[in-house]
Amino acid sequence: MDVTVLCDAVAVFPEPVETALPGWSAEHQEWTAANLPGNVAADGGWLLHFHCYLVTSERGAVLVDTGIGPAGSDAAQWLGTAGRLPTLLAAAGVGADDIDTVILTHVHLDHAGWNTTESGRPRFANATYVVQQAELDHLGDGPAYERYLKPIAAAGQLRAMRGSGALGDLRLLLTPGHTPGHQCVVTAVAILGGDVLVHPAQARWPELVYVYERDPAVAVTSRRDVLALAAATGLPLAAAHPHTALTGTASAQDLSNLHCRLGQR
Ligand SMILES: [Zn+2]
Ligand SMILES: [Zn+2]
Repeated sequence: MDVTVLCDAVAVFPEPVETALPGWSAEHQEWTAANLPGNVAADGGWLLHFHCYLVTSERGAVLVDTGIGPAGSDAAQWLGTAGRLPTLLAAAGVGADDIDTVILTHVHLDHAGWNTTESGRPRFANATYVVQQAELDHLGDGPAYERYLKPIAAAGQLRAMRGSGALGDLRLLLTPGHTPGHQCVVTAVAILGGDVLVHPAQARWPELVYVYERDPAVAVTSRRDVLALAAATGLPLAAAHPHTALTGTASAQDLSNLHCRLGQR
């Protein structure tokens, strides 16, 4: 099994980091600068990566999250930059039609941006798109469903999972809090964490709450659970926004370039 990091975009969070993470302190800032300089902007702000992950094995090609999307997408407008996922997939030798499964960790604008084409068709024409039922219940028929999932459902390509469980040679973990139906993907190589943590300092301080977490207390519990799993299994935690993968204990010496070991393209 191979996991390839597809970095759809890099952008500075539009709000100050202490607004996004209300418990933010000088200690967090210093730790991040020392250990994850790739997540610190030139002005000291929060530099985010927007990672999708390509998982290939003999069972096929799985894409975890679809990034911020093309110029003009909601996330591209919010961040002031456009995604580049199709180019990265092509460089990895994978066409959109080769993707068998798209797993959405959750349905936020920066994780579902390339779900559909400009003409509103599923971009990954042969893929089953997998989301948690709890996420669908939360979205209802609101604007995020309308934009990112309705064309997928209309094409018969949407599959709802109910809780944690196996999916081929992968394992889905229901990790609510960030959103009600947030899920992580456990592979043989890494835990693909979506937004179970958004800032790398949350691997060191799981109790550090992100202001846009739907249920902060539940999010902290999910974060602790996934970090404990990473520590117990020795699998790196590759979330969507940290520059690099993290370890369960987030110790400095363990953060040595796991990003490249996972094979960044
Ligand atoms: Zn999110
Ligand atoms: Zn996100």
